[in-house]
Amino acid sequence: MPSLLHNISLFFKGPNGPKCIECDSVLIDNDCPNLDCPAKVEKWLIRWCSPQAANIPAIGIAEAKQLASLRLVLHPGELYELGPGDWNRLNSVPNTQLKEIQQQMDSSKSAGACALIYGLKLPEVNITIAKKLAETFNSVDGLRTCEPKMIQEVVGVSNIQAKEILSWFHDSVNKKALKMLEQNGFNFSD
Ligand SMILES: [Zn+2]
Repeated sequence: MPSLLHNISLFFKGPNGPKCIECDSVLIDNDCPNLDCPAKVEKWLIRWCSPQAANIPAIGIAEAKQLASLRLVLHPGELYELGPGDWNRLNSVPNTQLKEIQQQMDSSKSAGACALIYGLKLPEVNITIAKKLAETFNSVDGLRTCEPKMIQEVVGVSNIQAKEILSWFHDSVNKKALKMLEQNGFNFSD
């Protein structure tokens, strides 16, 4: 849960209601509806790189922020397609760190189902729920193709939440992210 302070710092009141401080979109249900919003991309990258997800600690908050705000990356899949020229646009990232980033990104391709489900940042899915989903469905594809009722039974979420988890897979940006990750060596089927 984001803290109240965090919410206040992120949003300000505009003439049509609260707006996202990053991209100026009018918020819907306190959430920025803009899929390209740098604040959203940054949060996703931070989740993706966290130890329980793809485990890329060499990409810290500062790097995630820059990758998002420079629009170098719209989703984690694009991390794996960045060239040396892209990485050089980031401020104060020494070559030793860039090497670490590359090594950790290579290792991340063998991430298991739980790490991937958590890293994809599906709605309502924290690490506890990600573990249960991975144990039950064995893979990202297993989860993607299941019935909402199964998710409801396994993790005890509402029918609406279960459907939201599954509809994540139908979003165009998320589909691109999954495809690009697969093209870069990730395995979603086991
Ligand atoms: Zn925004």
